[in-house]
Amino acid sequence: MTVLDPPVTTQRLLSPGPFGPLPTLSLDQLVRLAEETGLTGRGGAGFPSAIKLRSVAEAGRAPAVVGNGMEGEPLSHKDAVLLTQAPGLVLDGLELVSRALRAKRTLLAVGPEIDPRPAQAAARSRGVDVQHLSGGFVAGQETALLNQLEGRPPVPRDPLTRVTTRGLDGRPTLVSNVETLAHLALAARFGAGWFRSVGLADDPGTSLFTITGAVDHEGVVEAARGTTIADLIAAARPHPGVQAVLVGGYHGAWVLASDFGTRLTRADLAPHGASVGAGIVHVLSGDACPLRAAADMASYLAGESAAQCGPCLNGLPRMADSLQRLAHGARDARLPAEIDRLRGLVVGRGACAHPDGTARLVGSTMRVFDAHVAAHLAGWCPTELSGGPR
Ligand code: SF4
Repeated sequence: MTVLDPPVTTQRLLSPGPFGPLPTLSLDQLVRLAEETGLTGRGGAGFPSAIKLRSVAEAGRAPAVVGNGMEGEPLSHKDAVLLTQAPGLVLDGLELVSRALRAKRTLLAVGPEIDPRPAQAAARSRGVDVQHLSGGFVAGQETALLNQLEGRPPVPRDPLTRVTTRGLDGRPTLVSNVETLAHLALAARFGAGWFRSVGLADDPGTSLFTITGAVDHEGVVEAARGTTIADLIAAARPHPGVQAVLVGGYHGAWVLASDFGTRLTRADLAPHGASVGAGIVHVLSGDACPLRAAADMASYLAGESAAQCGPCLNGLPRMADSLQRLAHGARDARLPAEIDRLRGLVVGRGACAHPDGTARLVGSTMRVFDAHVAAHLAGWCPTELSGGPR
């Protein structure tokens, strides 16, 4: 995937380097650095890195440290770009954390779609085990990842047992997205002030964003936190007349073109039901039916569950099927209420966030494109009338 020119001068992780020697930090120094930078996880959940580090350190046993480069989301390519273009920074981050925590094991998990060779070459002299793993959408979920590393099927575990106290081989385990580790590696060299000199006071630094869909150049761009949707997608040259973006990937939510001035921050995206997540922005063409697009995503997600919990086994296929029917012309006025009912049945009922994320996408589709839903129920599709496919 192409690396796009950033909207402003914000290339850090994707700058050519060299970055200079990696300092060694004590645990206290590393936790303080994570606190002062305000760094949050870049894998999707956005959890504060300092809190995670402290939890593992306080668990009382020599921990394991796992870099998560699984990237199971089909619309995300930023981990692949990072592990290809700057694998040394990811390994630096792993080394930094592993030394500070006096880790017993240090691993880097690389997803099936990513070429592991640059990371393997960078890891050769550092004692880091790089594992090229298999798996689909949920295989990158942290407990599913640990299962696979232990030779078990890549399905999520009991959510009540925190991996920070009992993770890989029963050890306290820090699982960190590869981008988060790379940010730590740079902050250790240049300091918290440098890290915070870009982005917002309450959401500092940069992130890698993957831009796909109705653009001239799909690709990955590094941009300051707080960049607006309009400025971000300009880097990929959106097609004229785009109608919305899906922020956060298949578990994300839609933002209409009239709101492209929205900044990509937790606070600004919250009214849209979206979050920055793993930095995925998918652009919807003006002539694409949003119901069909979302129904296909929901069907994909229904097929990607680990099929071990009721909401995924029963609820997601039925929800996806109802949305497909609505998208493909079934004039059944009961469908919106049925979709709403199924959403209510799956949320908060799975062993992982997969049902919730799928329900978020479907709910956002029904809410943001309510006029489109009404048109379908009346027997026509606005995108078909505008010349696009129904
Ligand atoms: S909620 Fe779904 S994806 Fe998550 S563990 Fe249960 S069956 Fe698997």
